[in-house]
Amino acid sequence: MSPERPVRTRLAPAAYLPYGREDMATYDYDFFVIGAGSGGVRAARIAAGYGARVAIAEERYLGGTCVNVGCIPKKLLVYAAHFHDDFEDAAGFGWTVGPRRFDWKALIENKDREIKRLNDVYDGLLERAGVARIFARAKLLDAHSVEVGGRTLRSRFILVATGSWPHIPAIPGADLCISSNEAFHLEDLPQRIAIVGGGYIAVEFAGIFAGLGSRVVLVHRGAAVLRGFDDDLRQALAPELQARGIDLHLERTVSRVEREGPQLRATLSDGTPLTADRLMFATGRLPNVAGLGLESAGVTLNEKGAVAVDEFSRTNVPSIYAVGDVTDRLNLTPMAIAEGQAVAETLFNNNPTKADHFNVATAVFSQPPIATVGLTEAQARQRFPEIDIYRSTFRPLKHTLSGRNERTLVKLVVDRASDRVVGCHMLGADAAEIVQGLAIALKCGATKKQFDATIGIHPTAAEEFVTLRTKVSEPGATA
Ligand code: NDP
Repeated sequence: MSPERPVRTRLAPAAYLPYGREDMATYDYDFFVIGAGSGGVRAARIAAGYGARVAIAEERYLGGTCVNVGCIPKKLLVYAAHFHDDFEDAAGFGWTVGPRRFDWKALIENKDREIKRLNDVYDGLLERAGVARIFARAKLLDAHSVEVGGRTLRSRFILVATGSWPHIPAIPGADLCISSNEAFHLEDLPQRIAIVGGGYIAVEFAGIFAGLGSRVVLVHRGAAVLRGFDDDLRQALAPELQARGIDLHLERTVSRVEREGPQLRATLSDGTPLTADRLMFATGRLPNVAGLGLESAGVTLNEKGAVAVDEFSRTNVPSIYAVGDVTDRLNLTPMAIAEGQAVAETLFNNNPTKADHFNVATAVFSQPPIATVGLTEAQARQRFPEIDIYRSTFRPLKHTLSGRNERTLVKLVVDRASDRVVGCHMLGADAAEIVQGLAIALKCGATKKQFDATIGIHPTAAEEFVTLRTKVSEPGATA
């Protein structure tokens, strides 16, 4: 069977589709998805499950950024880097760890094998759902037509799920630099790497390379990394990065880069020279909108250059929807999946659904990691007349023996009038695992009283969240 032939394998179609059978003649497909990343694949599979005739076009790799050059390989590299701390920490527990040697090529090979397995998993999921896979670049021609692989196909609905791409500022020598895309496939572990940016990717990769043994310089234009996160987390993270040997160059950026023999020489905005084997820019990602034919179809972009959509992820053209990074809302894989699912529900299950962008938990897999859900203290102060802050910093039990001078920070932000917990923040081991559960509490509108009534699991860092009793007293907070 040709992978492009639409098949129906699931629910009886006509009952579920909000349009008649005459469309089957007018359109080749009910739903044409451009981009087989997290959002596109979910939308395609669910729509096919509801009986729609679905095709998905992908020009690069199944699974998109998350699977290939994002979340999944990144987390595998984070695990690899963490062994550095684990070996060091073992001594306090009586272990003698022998000589260590790290093999970058082995790690990358193993990682690539796992990614290949996941690509195949995605392919199988789509195939079993009856989605036609088209491995080519697709381009919109009008509100219902796409050009793909030299053919024009017509579809009742079209979903743009083309993701985003790393952005490197146009400085002299930018072509000598890498982005996270290349960082996953370097031939060798750089002995020295400079990373520009202070967002998720810069901070995560700084920890990865430092843990694996590179000397890392982080160059960030702001006074603290991770703008948008709670200020206490941002401040507490800096000494942890430095403790792992990451050299922070704040309030500066890279003005130009030149080759100097086998190395790169960067000049910072204050004139400081910097030499490194690699220079990586992690200065944000831009929506993949170029060359997609959006203008031919009449789809408008917003002021950020992303596809403009309403709460149902519908563009200004009623038959065209867009989800994920290309819409630049909350650029997180689970969010793209939720948006894709909602589109499929709306279009093919007679169930208009909006993806909920409120109280979405997120983590930065720094070392130690950060996780957060809800409002930062600064956001809450703007939103509510009075708030209460509860905060604790402590040395985790493990490090009483390991000797590591690492502090964990937990923080709750509470709306005083309703007693609801509106923000929950953590820096410390397992923060992402812990905050995921707390996100449910926030989604349910839990009050501080309910947090207090919850019995902790002892001894854990997580129990701190249910044993915070003393309000922080500080300017602005009338504790
Ligand atoms: P971010 O938007 O998170 O951060 C970009 C960083 O680059 C900021 O520190 C920004 O500074 C800085 N910057 C932007 N432009 C310039 C410039 N011209 N010169 C110098 N510095 C600049 O982007 P990332 O690339 O880190 O990640 C992209 C997105 O991917 C994230 O927003 C996130 O949604 C997603 N992601 C999620 C992860 C997770 O869930 N763990 C992991 C990785 C990525 P400033 O703050 O001053 O604007």
